[in-house]
Amino acid sequence: MTTTTDLLARRTRALGSGAPLFYEQPLHIVRGDGVYLYDADGRRYVDMYNNVPCVGHANPRVVEAMARQQATLNVHSRYLHETVVTFCERLAALHGRQIDSVIVSCSGTEANEVALRMARFATGKRGLICTDATYHGNSELVGSLTRLGQQPSSNPSVRAIPFPEKFRPTVAGLSEDELCEAYLEKLAATIADLQASGEGVAAIIVCSILANEGLPDIPAGFMARAASMVREAGGLVIADEVQAGYVRTGQWWGYDVTGFIPDIVVTGKPMGNGLPLAATAASQALVETFRANTRYFNTSASSPLQAAVGLAVLDEIEDRGLAGNVATVGAALKASLTHRKGASNVIGDVRGHGLFLGVEMVKPEDNAPDLDLAKRVINRLKDKCFLTSNAGVFANVVKIRPPLMFSSEDAAAFLIAWDETIAELAV
Ligand code: PMP
Repeated sequence: MTTTTDLLARRTRALGSGAPLFYEQPLHIVRGDGVYLYDADGRRYVDMYNNVPCVGHANPRVVEAMARQQATLNVHSRYLHETVVTFCERLAALHGRQIDSVIVSCSGTEANEVALRMARFATGKRGLICTDATYHGNSELVGSLTRLGQQPSSNPSVRAIPFPEKFRPTVAGLSEDELCEAYLEKLAATIADLQASGEGVAAIIVCSILANEGLPDIPAGFMARAASMVREAGGLVIADEVQAGYVRTGQWWGYDVTGFIPDIVVTGKPMGNGLPLAATAASQALVETFRANTRYFNTSASSPLQAAVGLAVLDEIEDRGLAGNVATVGAALKASLTHRKGASNVIGDVRGHGLFLGVEMVKPEDNAPDLDLAKRVINRLKDKCFLTSNAGVFANVVKIRPPLMFSSEDAAAFLIAWDETIAELAV
């Protein structure tokens, strides 16, 4: 049998050494089932990271739908096919009345690219606003929004605002309302700058729960007021639900949790439970403006295969009541971790919604981000067969984001491993 060392050497040659791998000792997995992953030696790991297999690894209903559709018909989108229409109707109906139509694609990057271009066509403006620690994808346009921090974007139409947060606020000592105003002032200045530069405002794009920023607690009211300010400036509001959507938070959409109404919604990762499937949803007028300007076609998208699998995922989420499971198990796990924060000086903060939680690891002396500890925690948890990773603007947040049927028994087992890990590492 191929050893892990041999496989690593072959991978480096075949994929190039820059292709990232998780963990100090990479994991060689061969099989998945529900929330579990199995390595080449037959060890079982609890998957607490992967949001793509949202209804579980090797989900039987999804596998059956995929096999049945592939064995019956799979073609591109230039034929009439009822399953495709039904899927798009069902997806649009999961949003509010402002959303009627869908453009299907194969990745979050593509769907965000469609959204940004849609906003530009609709408004006749080019300016795009994002946060300074975001990630929305890797094409040239979408990639020009990535993690701008203090750097200006390579794209003259893009401006970043500081992402709103309560744990490490840009100004210390303010009340929540004052902090909200402080962040909104930055947005107002950015809007004014885009107007003055002649770019104008086409859109603001945000992950609805600021996942890549580290799941910050957002000052109350910020999202809704930011959306109004952008609309007043003539721009549209794009919710990137690639991570936040599909009941990840216990509600269908992250924007339900953070309290705003988008004009355009982008979805991806969990939609196909592993089959590449993404979508940009908006009003029929917006979608038609985009189509008229681009004659958009995407070879593998809007296919009967994508639609059959996409419907199976929606059925699984609804029939198994997964939103309820996420809300219940997620709230209990968050409460347990929050309780541990009080007892440990290396846990700075516990944040998140539903089954998407972040534990911020800090240095006890000054609460500074402790990336090194976060890395040691995730590697030690992996040795104990629980798979997590690190994220956030300082990459010091342990990210917990299991498939949606993660149970309270799984959570209880994880907490035992967590306590052992913290006791072993935080000496
Ligand atoms: N939006 C967000 C919020 C993401 O986190 C990601 C990927 N991590 C993307 C978009 C891009 O999705 P994809 O990798 O499918 O292009």
